[in-house]
Amino acid sequence: MDLILKNISRTYDDHVALDDCSFFVRGGSFTMIIGPNGSGKSTLLRIASLLESPDTGEAIYHDNGGPIKRDIFLKRKIAVVLPGNSLFNDTVFNNVAYGLRVRDMNRHVVRERVHDILERFQLSGKAYRNALTLSSGESQRTALSRALVTGPEYLFLDEPTASLDPVNTEIIEKVLNDIVTGDGMTVVMITHNMFQARRLADRVAFIYGGRVIEEAKSEKIFSSPRKDLTRGFVTGKMVW
Ligand code: ADP
Ligand code: MG
Repeated sequence: MDLILKNISRTYDDHVALDDCSFFVRGGSFTMIIGPNGSGKSTLLRIASLLESPDTGEAIYHDNGGPIKRDIFLKRKIAVVLPGNSLFNDTVFNNVAYGLRVRDMNRHVVRERVHDILERFQLSGKAYRNALTLSSGESQRTALSRALVTGPEYLFLDEPTASLDPVNTEIIEKVLNDIVTGDGMTVVMITHNMFQARRLADRVAFIYGGRVIEEAKSEKIFSSPRKDLTRGFVTGKMVW
């Protein structure tokens, strides 16, 4: 399933957060969204993941049969982790099991799937801890486990490793890399870490002032971008 972001604009009061943004996300790819604070990245992510509607334009999921209807079945294929992951006051296990239980899944299957995903995130020893007592790295890994346990086709992540240490970041990057290469999941992620973008992304979209300045293969964005603005941003020389 591909995703077409078509001429998306979004204004809050009189502030233009997104101004005619378009790009294409191929199913099974890893796209990183980069850009300064306030440039519209999170707004674009919420619209692409169908949490929010644009004022004009459209986020269209598409497969060989054409555009896919925007219903509960489509929404169940999309998982999102926003900043401030909102775990609830219960065990790690129950937090992660939530998405499976609302799908009425058999309790043995729930158990197995939850334990599998916790193991991938190196959280097996924390399964019966209250989620609110976790460190920030564990808490973020739990939020990612909760998003991934249902096996979504699309995963949207808004700065999932912001303020995490290198060990937590590495665990998360490894799982993300494995699910894209192994399970064929599509990931769209926002990061401020240019090294991370280089390590993980197939495609990179640089957003600035509510516009997609450039969207290209990762190597291209970092080694020979088309626009001076992109070069300035990725080399940390936007202020001069
Ligand atoms: P980024 O994620 O790149 O930092 P955002 O998408 O969060 O940028 O925000 C883009 C602009 O839109 C910012 O100026 C922000 O203040 C504004 N904005 C975002 N969401 C809202 C909202 N719900 N209400 C009002 N303004 C918003
Ligand atoms: Mg943001």
